[in-house]
Amino acid sequence: MNAQTPDAPAPFGLRPAPSASRLRDPRPGVSGLTPADLDAWAAARGLPGYRARQVSDAVWRGRQAGFAEIRTLPGSVRDALEASFRFDTVAETEVRRTDGGLTEKALHRLSDGLLVESVLMHYPARDGARERHTLCISSQAGCAVGCPFCATGELGMERDLETAEILDQVRAAQRRLAADGSRLTNVVFMGMGEPLLNLDRVLEAVAALNDPGRLGLGARHITLSTSGVVPGIRRLTELGPQFTLAVSLHAARNPLRDVLVPLNRRWPVEEVVAAAREHARATGRRVTYELTMISGVNDTDADADALAELLRGDLAHVNLIPMNPVAHTPWTGSPLPAVERFADRVRAAGLAVTIRFNRGTEIGAACGQLAAEQAGRPTPAVVRRRRERLVAQSAAALRGERSGEPAPPAPGVEGLA
Ligand code: SAH
Ligand code: SF4
Repeated sequence: MNAQTPDAPAPFGLRPAPSASRLRDPRPGVSGLTPADLDAWAAARGLPGYRARQVSDAVWRGRQAGFAEIRTLPGSVRDALEASFRFDTVAETEVRRTDGGLTEKALHRLSDGLLVESVLMHYPARDGARERHTLCISSQAGCAVGCPFCATGELGMERDLETAEILDQVRAAQRRLAADGSRLTNVVFMGMGEPLLNLDRVLEAVAALNDPGRLGLGARHITLSTSGVVPGIRRLTELGPQFTLAVSLHAARNPLRDVLVPLNRRWPVEEVVAAAREHARATGRRVTYELTMISGVNDTDADADALAELLRGDLAHVNLIPMNPVAHTPWTGSPLPAVERFADRVRAAGLAVTIRFNRGTEIGAACGQLAAEQAGRPTPAVVRRRRERLVAQSAAALRGERSGEPAPPAPGVEGLA
């Protein structure tokens, strides 16, 4: 979820520090420890096992802001914890509310000054359905994939987040919700970054989210979204149904997908869908395909027909999300009639299709932009060159031409192929 809303508030007051200017705090974040890690830490200090549980309860359920406030622990244990771990890897969080309070965008500053975003969306109870509180979190600072319609892609890659840095976005939201007497119901990895290119840490985070002793969310309530890292999808399939898989497809035809998701030159769309299909078959869980709809680019009848053909007969759900405008692209989101026409053609092939219309903040529409704003804007000349290149590339793609350019270097991809 990576775009600005047209009525986006002025940039937050937080300013990023250049990543090289500050050293990262070497102490691991306590939320990234498994129960076994905490037990081992306590045992190494001759502490009884229940001390580890007290720490875990304070980290996941408590209202404390630091180890010093865990008054159930002796002072010596609090000091030892402080020396070994960080209570919170998010040094500072600034929250902005939009949509009449239904959306909370949080900008988190990490210990080395980098900024990442999370977005908390409240869905009030309606038509017999219970209220939901969905948090969209980041798995990386920046992203190497470089989708041109995405503000995070524009930032480029900064670094992978640590397990605790992923989880501390969740703890920050959970604390705000707890203050209102509610709790988180869903977590989606649709913020900054490509989760399957930081998969070890993302899986550790998912385990913590799933664990009844920590956050305790069911598998259906955790969604991993990927731009199509095929080896990562295969690895998830081997693990079984621990979460829902969403694939950011954007186009069913290779020439266009090469432009919209540069990783497509590495793993073309048929390979991505084959891996996702196998995931659905092996886990019995429906895969969601996301399409960010760009006016006149990927919303044509030919694109709808290609999508219907590609997914025909699959255990799949298609989500259509009009693109939110991003400054450096020449594109606009598809208007509602175009999206509805596209949806009807895909439905005619027997596929389930949902249109997510602009609350501006729906899944796939809010994250990444704030940190991009803080990082500074490209010059008008750079924006103009990018726009011209995108127009030329998408026009060629619509004629069915592939560029023949090699896949762009994407840190973290190398070891996976
Ligand atoms: N990297 C992963 C997860 C983070 S991006 C992925 O690409 O799936 C999460 C979602 O936000 C993706 O589906 C992406 O297509 C969507 N998104 C990015 N920029 C957008 C924009 N300008 N408007 C609407 N959705 C956008
Ligand atoms: Fe943005 Fe996701 Fe593409 Fe990365 S992979 S650039 S986060 S849409």
